[in-house]
Amino acid sequence: MVAQILDGLKLAKKIQKKIKKIICKRKKNNLIIPGLAIILIGNNTSSKIYIKNKKIACNKVGFLSKIYKFSEKINKKKIISIIKKLNNNKLIHGILIQLPLPNKITTLEISKKISYKKDVDGFHPLNMGLLCQRNPNIRSCTPLGIINLLKEYKIKIKGMNALIIGASNIVGRPMMLELLLAGCTTTITHRFTKNLYEYVKKADLIIIAIGKPNFLHGKWIKKGAIIIDVGINRLENGKIVGDVNFKSMYKKASYITPVPGGVGPMTITSLLQNTLYSFKKYQKK
Ligand code: NAD
Repeated sequence: MVAQILDGLKLAKKIQKKIKKIICKRKKNNLIIPGLAIILIGNNTSSKIYIKNKKIACNKVGFLSKIYKFSEKINKKKIISIIKKLNNNKLIHGILIQLPLPNKITTLEISKKISYKKDVDGFHPLNMGLLCQRNPNIRSCTPLGIINLLKEYKIKIKGMNALIIGASNIVGRPMMLELLLAGCTTTITHRFTKNLYEYVKKADLIIIAIGKPNFLHGKWIKKGAIIIDVGINRLENGKIVGDVNFKSMYKKASYITPVPGGVGPMTITSLLQNTLYSFKKYQKK
């Protein structure tokens, strides 16, 4: 048995094509189009690549997008005043702040200043709270992309034992809420979890997001488990790998996401979907 690949790149292209069609039509009719503001604070090399890719994706589907770059010396007050202006800007329907932020600024402090209506990353406490109460509004991009990928392959996850490895605010925790919403019996583990492999061997669906190359080996999992690899790790030789040891997993899992080409393209596509959602739901007519 070998696993079926969950092709995030293919699905991302399919969804983006649909979005592009909607935007082309609006442009032809001289109608307003969705706009995304991308804020980068500091000089993080990976962040620069991520925001460039987000802008490219916006261009591809025809969204308006603007990058706002600031030195890490910028003070909190100034960032908040820029966010306020963007909250009131009628041409901007989504605002995202690329993480991580420089140490002196806490993510929560800043992310709650973005209007929940323009919070296309889904990190605002209100959007996270609505998801927690089974009433999702704007949903965090990576977990939403994973749910959409599972749906595309018609994988029925209701009732499954789902395990999340990694409990960050941007992946693990919202993923836990998404899986609960989808009817999974959900366990979340993290760096303090004891006997991780006791959980691994019982799981039907494993989502791993810890940032450790090749961490999860195929020999630990239940035969036929579904493996979603969120990790993006750059090796010394420049190769990008996930948190999963793909070769060993491929022979034992039923489905698996590749890295690259799995969760990554779905995350960017969720950002586009969220921007379109905010645009449709909240734009002033
Ligand atoms: P993070 O550092 O904020 O969180 C890592 C989590 O992993 C923590 O909860 C920590 O407790 C847990 N952890 C660490 N070591 C562990 C261990 N040995 N056993 C169990 N849990 C452990 O990271 P993050 O921002 O959530 O990102 C995780 C990975 O996912 C990174 O490689 C990142 O680049 C990648 N990522 C990918 C996408 C995508 O679109 N594909 C999106 C976001 C993050």
